[in-house]
Amino acid sequence: MTLRFRVLLLYLLIGVLVIVIVGGLLPSTLQAQQRDAVTRESLVQLRHIDYALSGFVEEARYDVLELSMNPLVRTRDDARFTSFLNASEATFEYTVTPPEQAIVDLFRAYQRSHPYVSSVYMGRENGAFVRAYPRARPTEYDPRDRPWYQLGKAHPGEVVKTDPYRAVTTPDVNIGIVTALVDEDGTVYGVVGADITLVNLTSYLVSVSRASAGEMLLVDPNGTILAAGDPALLFSDVGAVLGDQSPTFLETDEGVLYLDDRFLVYRRSPALGWTIGTFVPFDLIGQRVNEAVRTVILFVVFGLGLLAVFTLAGLDHLVIHPLARLTRESRRIAETGDLDQEIEVTGSGEIAVLSRSLRAMVETIATMERGRRQALAELRAYRDHLEETVAERTRDLARAKEQAESADRLKSAFLATMSHELRTPLNSIIGFSGILLQGLAGPLNPEQRKQLGMVHDSAQHLLALINDVLDISKIEAGEFRLAGEPVPVPAVLTKAVATVRPLADEKGLPIEMAVDPAAGEVWGDRRRIEQVFLNLLSNAVKFTEQGHVRVACAREGDRVVTSIQDTGIGIAEEDLARIFQPFSQVETGLTRRYEGTGLGLSISKRLTEMMGGTIEVESRVGRGSTFRVLLPAYREGQ
Ligand code: ADP
Repeated sequence: MTLRFRVLLLYLLIGVLVIVIVGGLLPSTLQAQQRDAVTRESLVQLRHIDYALSGFVEEARYDVLELSMNPLVRTRDDARFTSFLNASEATFEYTVTPPEQAIVDLFRAYQRSHPYVSSVYMGRENGAFVRAYPRARPTEYDPRDRPWYQLGKAHPGEVVKTDPYRAVTTPDVNIGIVTALVDEDGTVYGVVGADITLVNLTSYLVSVSRASAGEMLLVDPNGTILAAGDPALLFSDVGAVLGDQSPTFLETDEGVLYLDDRFLVYRRSPALGWTIGTFVPFDLIGQRVNEAVRTVILFVVFGLGLLAVFTLAGLDHLVIHPLARLTRESRRIAETGDLDQEIEVTGSGEIAVLSRSLRAMVETIATMERGRRQALAELRAYRDHLEETVAERTRDLARAKEQAESADRLKSAFLATMSHELRTPLNSIIGFSGILLQGLAGPLNPEQRKQLGMVHDSAQHLLALINDVLDISKIEAGEFRLAGEPVPVPAVLTKAVATVRPLADEKGLPIEMAVDPAAGEVWGDRRRIEQVFLNLLSNAVKFTEQGHVRVACAREGDRVVTSIQDTGIGIAEEDLARIFQPFSQVETGLTRRYEGTGLGLSISKRLTEMMGGTIEVESRVGRGSTFRVLLPAYREGQ
């Protein structure tokens, strides 16, 4: 999926989301607004209708007044005017005299010019009845009995309005506007009137005021419906339409009533006393809201479209195009492996940083690649000359080995000769100084004895050192020979202890013995085993100032284990590995407090190992050390 397509998709999603939100939230908000707006509109319209209706009725009053003042109408000569007092439908015939015809013409002209006037007429005290148009059925009729006549007569000098009444021939509701004809004496001699059809009048007014709603309701103060969309409702009580809301409707001057599928906005006419209402279907509100929402959504879609186009164009120029170029270049590098290609740095901001980083990366890879190639070339050269080099090195090694071996041989020979040469005079020194010390060559004074004693001790120490050096060099040269015999370890150990006891006694150090006489024999060199024990015992005595030395020997499985334990200075953990190496002493340098060569332990270990055994050590500084010599037990017939 390309970036461009993804951005487009994102816009589409946002668009759908916005439309869903607008479409979901807007209608409920608009609904209330629209209802208020329609109510306001309807009230304004009702005011217009009221104004027009009142005006119309007022105008009709003037017209009737004007008619009543017309000299033709006012004539007293009415004896020959049409009368239906004794009329019969079968025999009646109109015979209109010219003065009456003149009045009829006047009435007709007026009715024709006022379409919502359904009838113009005049009744006389003599029972005559003149109408603009002939009556449809000329039945017996006395105007003086009619309500309009009696009303007019009761209010001489006024133009009055009758209660609404149902027309005899049409389903219309009419009202009559009437006034009495009064002579100079104040005697009423007739009544002139005009009827106004309310249903047609109201619908005419509605159409004139161009109301969107349409269906009107006109109700008199008694609650009688005077005009309604449905003719069947005429003259019925308003309760039939409004139910229990009709008292509210009749008692308030202005308001809104909510019915099932519509609402009624109404207003009482101050001039007429009638209440005029207009029904507004809820559908109309819904329709208006839908229209508004549709328009808003249309604009939103258009706006989003525009935004998408501009953003895409901007993105294309600023991001997508430079990115696509970078992608192309990096792909080309990946496919061709050509790291020397130049990466152009364009764009700004993050894109520029990206291309700079890519360029730096490619340069680094190129440098590394060059290094790798060079290393490879060198490696190849080495490989090609490997055999030669190996042969050369082998030759060097053989030469070095030969040299080392000859040096080693020389060293051993030197040591053997030197030790022999040294031992002979030393033995003489020890022998003769011993003879002298024994007083065999005459008595010695104390000072001489002391000096000679020191010579004797030093010579003996030197001899021991030389013996040790000789031993270790022989062992290392592989020329050391051991005797092989069954050796009773307890006996050898006891003898060694006896040897060091005088030294221990000198220091006041007890040597405790726990030697199992049945510990058994081992196969080895008796003298060398004794040497090992002596070495360990003398170390124990040497490095212990107080406490004791405990010597034990027992059989453990197929081994004879001898342990020499002391309560001396102990050996630090880090020194333990070192003490078995030749010439290694834990304390070195000028601070050394204990005598020794540093060869004893290394010789002992090697000797023990040559006999198939091993030496173990456990020690803690300040608490003491335990050395264990483990030698394989001798079995009969070994
Ligand atoms: P040396 O002749 O110096 O005693 P060894 O090889 O016998 O040489 O011992 C090497 C070193 O090991 C000694 O110098 C001493 O520091 C340490 N050592 C050996 N035995 C003991 C011991 N029982 N207690 C403490 N230190 C010991």
